Amino acid sequence: MTDSILCPVCSTTVETVEHIFANCSELIVLWTRIAIWWGVRCPSQLTLDSLFNWADSTSWKIGTFWCIWNFRNGVIFRANIPKKSFIFDDVVHKSYVWISSRCSKAKISWSSWLHNPINATKMIDFDLKVAIF
Ligand SMILES: [Zn+2]
Repeated sequence: MTDSILCPVCSTTVETVEHIFANCSELIVLWTRIAIWWGVRCPSQLTLDSLFNWADSTSWKIGTFWCIWNFRNGVIFRANIPKKSFIFDDVVHKSYVWISSRCSKAKISWSSWLHNPINATKMIDFDLKVAIF
C-alpha cells in the first residue's frame, strides 16, 4: 500500500487519472510509439478526452490503458519494479492476443501485427470490427 499521493511512476506530480494516463512525463512517450506503430498522428495535446477520441480504433487504446495501469500497479505493489521499456511490447502483445481471440477466423499474422496492424486487420468483417475496435 502506498502512503504518497504522488504519481508512483514519476514521483513529481499528484497522481490523478488524467496524469497517469495522459500527462505523466515518464509515460507520455508511449503514446508516440503507439501512434508510430499504427501509422496515425498522436493528438497534439494529450488529455483523456483526446485519447478516447483519437483515431477510430480502440483495441490498442484499451490495451495501452490496461498496460499503463498494470505498470503503475506493478511499481506500487511488486517487489521487482517492472521496466518501463517493456510497456510498449506488452501493449503490442496483449492487443494481439485480444484481437486474435476475438477474431479467430481472421488468422491475423503476428508478423503483420508487429509491422502494420492496420493491414493485419483488413480482412476482419466490418461488423466485427465495429464490435471490437
Ligand atoms: Zn507521473
